[in-house]
Order: sequence, then structure tokens, then C-alpha cells
Amino acid sequence: MKVARWLLLLTHIIVVCGFWLWNHIRSPGGSLLSKGAPEVLLATGRLAAVLAVSGILLQLMLIGRVKWLERTFGLDKLIRVHHKNGLLVLGALSAHPILVTAGHAMKERASFWVQLKDFLANWDAVPLAASGWLLLLILGAASLAPVRRHMRYEHWYALHLTAYAAIALAFFHQTRLGRDFTRNQVLTAYWFGLHAFVAVNLIFFRLLRPTLVFWRHRFTIERLERETDDVTSVVIRGRALMDFRIQAGQFMFVRFWMKGFRWQSHPFSMSRQPDGSEIRLSIKSIGDFTAAIPRLAPGTPVLIDGPHGVFTARYCQREKVLMVAAGIGITPIRSLAEELAADGRDVLVLYGNRNEAAIVFHKELDELEATCPNLRVIHILSHDPSWTGEKGHIDAEKISRFASDAAERDVFLCGPPIMMKDVLKALAAMGVPRSTIHWERFSL
Ligand SMILES: Cc1cc2nc3c(=O)[nH]c(=O)nc-3n(C[C@H](O)[C@H](O)[C@H](O)COP(=O)(O)OP(=O)(O)OC[C@H]3O[C@@H](n4cnc5c(N)ncnc54)[C@H](O)[C@@H]3O)c2cc1C
Repeated sequence: MKVARWLLLLTHIIVVCGFWLWNHIRSPGGSLLSKGAPEVLLATGRLAAVLAVSGILLQLMLIGRVKWLERTFGLDKLIRVHHKNGLLVLGALSAHPILVTAGHAMKERASFWVQLKDFLANWDAVPLAASGWLLLLILGAASLAPVRRHMRYEHWYALHLTAYAAIALAFFHQTRLGRDFTRNQVLTAYWFGLHAFVAVNLIFFRLLRPTLVFWRHRFTIERLERETDDVTSVVIRGRALMDFRIQAGQFMFVRFWMKGFRWQSHPFSMSRQPDGSEIRLSIKSIGDFTAAIPRLAPGTPVLIDGPHGVFTARYCQREKVLMVAAGIGITPIRSLAEELAADGRDVLVLYGNRNEAAIVFHKELDELEATCPNLRVIHILSHDPSWTGEKGHIDAEKISRFASDAAERDVFLCGPPIMMKDVLKALAAMGVPRSTIHWERFSL
């Protein structure tokens, strides 16, 4: 499956580069590349544009929650590739106007700045494309880690929506001035088809599918349950839930259709194994949206985009499992532990918290342990002097003491980034193969 997806991408790159070579070698008057530096600059500039647009379309597919991609790679990985590919797109986007302006300036024996002014003042579709280009550059710059850290998620997300306008402006520019287009009908058809393919995927997976899912299941909030001081569970009911195919460990983007909530959709993992009658999400208050969760009213409609994620039993290869969670990271682990234990696997859960009051699902985990002899939960508390059990953090010493056979287990991991980093390091030192470690990050 993975190979087929990569082949699709490779084929596209071969097609566009092939067309580009064909166009420049077969152009009237012979190879453009042999006509000197200005033509080489212009041709390279055009290639940069084609690659930049390909990269932007890929960006949309990576972020579009496209099920057939997500099922293979996992949303988490797709989003990480999206971040990296963004840098390549920025590079290609910047190269295009520089190379094309430099090429024309050399041809016209003008300076770079005079040529740029001429493009902006006199060339059809260039000012629009320049605005789109500027929007994409701002977006790219805003996505760089040091800038993004200082932006609210909602502002950063809203800025991302301007990318669609920028792509429309760039598309207009390509069809008017793109030499590869105006000369080659097959490439034009391919390019239009490619844009249509991406648009159809986006519209279906981002808009139509969640609407259809809501239409079919009519999700509403059944009740809220207080788990700890800062964690509230939202129990959701719906029609024909048996047909809503969801696996323990998966997450979904939810939008609560109530005043004050409806403009934001946030990802949350299912915290109990799906039973065909209810879905439970357990949400920790960390910001404005999550702090307002206890105000949600029963009966509120819920739009669900999902389920998503590959943090599921489907990818568990071994009979023995080690699960490591900290804080609210217990949500997918809790539902998955129940499923894997019911499946007869030997499940060991290491669960870290600050103090006893912060343990989410304490009673439920005790009950699960009591009913499943093959499930063991060890609580590890870092700041609770009255705790008589394990103290400290989940570290290499604890893992090797409780799971000296970690290399023979599948490992499922979810918690704060610093804990995940330390645990991954400890597991690597214990010789646990990366292919048997599965993790869910609570940040996209
Ligand atoms: C796959 C996944 C599963 C998750 N499961 C759970 C869970 O079961 N329980 C739980 O309590 N939390 C879960 N989270 C985290 C939860 O989504 C964030 O805590 C929540 O969105 C924060 O929103 P806020 O406005 O209250 O906080 P803010 O302070 O505004 O945001 C804190 C951080 O949360 C992230 N975030 C904020 N808004 C969004 C958004 N709309 N979409 C994506 N990320 C956003 C950003 O990284 C941001 O920096 C999960 C996250 C992911 C990615």
C-alpha cells in the first residue's frame, strides 16, 4: 500500500520533469537550454514553478485528512511530512520569480529591479500571482517553529485558509503565462486533472464526508462526566453507531454545535472501547476551548470528522504489550488496553501522573485490572509524598525494572512530548525495534 502511494508521487514527478524536458528540447528553434544563460534561467524558473505548485498540491493532500492516505501513513506522519515539504515549497516558490526575472533582465539588458517593476506594472496576471506568492510566503514564514510558537492556534489556522486564495491566484497565472501550458495541450489536461483530483479529495474528505457521517448518525452529547479536577468526559450518542467503524485508540475532530464552540474543531481520542451505543471522549482543560468543555449542554449536536489514526490493535504484532502513558495521554491507551487485554494479550500499563488526584480513570483501571488477569497497571507518581506506590517519573530504570522483556513486546506510547522523548530513548537503549513502537502525539 505504502509503495503504491509513493509510486503515485514518483510518477507525477517523472511526468512533470519529463514534460519540462520535452518542451524545452523540442521547442521551435532547438533546445532552449543551448541558447545561453537567459534561457537556462527562464527554463529553470519555470521548472521551479511547476515543482512549487506540485508541492502545494501535495501539501493539500497531506493536510486534507484524505482517508486513503491517512489509513496507510497515519495523520501524524502526514502532517510531519507536510511541515517538511512546506520548506521545499518555500524554496521553489522563492526561486521562480528570482530566476524568471533574472532571465528576462539578461535578455532585455535591463537591471533585475527594472525588469521586476515591468512585470508588475505591465504583465497580465503577474500582480495577482505576486499577491498569491506573497500570501504563501507569509504562510510559510508563520509556520516556521519560532514564529508559530508565538501564535494562537486559531490565528495560525485562519492564516492557512488564505492558501486556497493564493492557489487560485497562482492557477490563473499559470494558465495565462505558463509557457509549458500554452504550448502543450496534454500537459494542460494533466495539470487541470491534477488540480481537480486534489479539489475532489479535499471537498469530499473535509466537507462532504463529515456531513454525511453526521447525517447518518446524528451525534449528540448524552452527558458529561467529571473525571478529575481538570478532565471531563463527553459521552456522545448517535443513531446506528454499530455502523460507525471506529477502533480503540483512534481519534476524531469534533465540532460541538453550540454557541461559543461551533467555530472550532479539535482532535480528541476515544477513551473507552467503542461498544456500539456510546462514544466517550475525555478532555483535559489546557486552553480556552478545553476549559469551556464543562459548559457543554446535553443534547448538543456534534459534528465528527473521523475516526482517524493508526494507533490501534491492528498494528500490534506481538502477544505481549507494554503501554506507557502520562497525564491525559491515557485516553487512547485506556481504550486500547481494554481491547488488547480482551484479546488475550499480556498487557502491562505504566501510567505516570503528578499525584493521586490527577490519575484519570483510576477506578476504571482498577476494575479492568480486577476483571482481566492478563492486564496490569502500575501507577507512577512524581509529586505525591503520601503515595505508597511507585514514585518518580517513567524512566529507563522503571521500564527495565517492570518490563525487562520490552524488546519482546509491542510498545504503545502517549503523553507529554518530553516524556515520549525520554521513553523512546530508553526503549532504543534496551534494543526495542522502532517498528514495534507505536506512539500518538497530542499535537499536530
Ligand atoms: C491526535 C490527537 C489526539 C488528542 N486526544 C486528546 C484527548 O483525548 N484528550 C485531550 O484532552 N486532548 C487531546 N488532544 C489534545 C487537544 O486536541 C488539545 O489539547 C486541544 O485542542 C487544545 O485546545 P485549546 O483551545 O483548549 O488549547 P490551546 O491553548 O488553544 O491549544 C494548545 C495546543 O493544542 C493544539 N491545538 C489547539 N487547537 C487545536 C485544534 N483546533 N486542532 C488541533 N490542535 C489544536 C495546539 O498544538 C496548541 O498549541 C489530542 C490531540 C491530538 C493531535
